[in-house]
Amino acid sequence: MLINKEAIIVGAGLAGATIANILAKKNYKITVYEKNNFIGGNCYDYYKKGILIHKYGPHIFHTNKKKIYEFINKFTKLNNFINKVYVRYKNLLFPLPINFTSIKIIAKNDANYIIKKLKTKFGKTKLITLSQLKKINDKKIRKFYDFIFQNVYANYTTKMWGIKFNKVDPKTINRVKIILSDKHNYFPQDRYQGLPINTYTRMITEMFNHKKITINLKTDAKKILKFDTENKKIYLNKKEFNGLIFYCGSLDELCNYKFGVLPYRSLKIKFFFKKMVKFQQSAIVNYPDHPKMTRICEYKQMTQQRNINNTIISKEYPKSFVLSKNQNSQRFYPIINKKNLMKYKQYLKLFKIFSNFYPLGRLGLYKYFDMDDTIEYAMKLANNFH
Ligand SMILES: Cc1cc2nc3c(=O)[nH]c(=O)nc-3n(C[C@H](O)[C@H](O)[C@H](O)COP(=O)(O)OP(=O)(O)OC[C@H]3O[C@@H](n4cnc5c(N)ncnc54)[C@H](O)[C@@H]3O)c2cc1C
Repeated sequence: MLINKEAIIVGAGLAGATIANILAKKNYKITVYEKNNFIGGNCYDYYKKGILIHKYGPHIFHTNKKKIYEFINKFTKLNNFINKVYVRYKNLLFPLPINFTSIKIIAKNDANYIIKKLKTKFGKTKLITLSQLKKINDKKIRKFYDFIFQNVYANYTTKMWGIKFNKVDPKTINRVKIILSDKHNYFPQDRYQGLPINTYTRMITEMFNHKKITINLKTDAKKILKFDTENKKIYLNKKEFNGLIFYCGSLDELCNYKFGVLPYRSLKIKFFFKKMVKFQQSAIVNYPDHPKMTRICEYKQMTQQRNINNTIISKEYPKSFVLSKNQNSQRFYPIINKKNLMKYKQYLKLFKIFSNFYPLGRLGLYKYFDMDDTIEYAMKLANNFH
């Protein structure tokens, strides 16, 4: 099939914006279709009563990849925000990831002993995993491990994913880091961190800002795309379309849930306006022992908005994604397990026959992608086209 230098992109989120920007610079004529009446997808942020908030929960850019950092620097500078998460557990408030400060707050009289042991065992190592901590044969360390495992991780994870802790992918647990110093940084391995100084929405607007790119908001691609599997042709507004198609929505939706709904976790995010300058210790505080809520975010502390006497916080309540006509439920985190991946692959197979169709982004690829992964994947894919 002859591919014109023409592409359509479904979804005006970060994945769509990245590929649109790169291909427009390669002289592709790009048309974007977005079902919302705003661009930015999950990263969408806006001002409410003069305070910048994130519609879909707090977003903090972080990466260790220079290439990705340099890419977003073309569109925005980042503020110098470092995510210092705290855990509120009963009357205790301590840093997350667990560090030496946390050990002092939790283990109290045993803290010096535990820290000394860890220093002796791990020397100059800066980070260890929870499973490395578990393997240490020492009574006091084991007591400390049992405490944080149950009260910090198990409760939170069970609430977050709606499943028993022992059903969570062990890789997730193994990834949990403990910092062997007083350093307080939620992303200790990532050199580049921060939020766009002029909002994510503005950053993504800049990415789309090219004369070869046209954006159509409030347009659901399901209504304008038709797939003729017999003849392996795709129709856009009833006309055969031979250009490239990048699809950043969920594939099950596009096929009317032929093989069932792809499962996602979702969140109910409740915003509260507070007549006070500062609500909490830091931008994000986790509540592992709360029966339903996982965390509270205070946006001003991330966005570094100053000279405002009020503040807005959001509380997050995890729940399952359920199909609804009014879009009350949002797809947030794909639930990655064998069964769900099989279902995703079934959908993928349906689209493989179309040589010009490319699933993209966290929904199209059914992956848990941070922003840097999202950008990286889209950049790599764009490299295939000249
Ligand atoms: C609660 C939460 C917090 C997060 N926090 C962080 C963080 O702190 N740091 C970090 O690095 N990453 C974070 N992420 C991940 C980050 O949001 C994603 O990496 C990124 O937004 C993915 O971009 P995307 O374009 O793939 O998807 P999306 O942003 O979801 O964009 C997809 C777009 O496609 C549109 N669309 C879908 N179907 C159709 C259709 N049929 N027709 C038209 N349009 C359609 C949607 O409306 C949407 O605008 C977080 C994710 C969540 C859920």
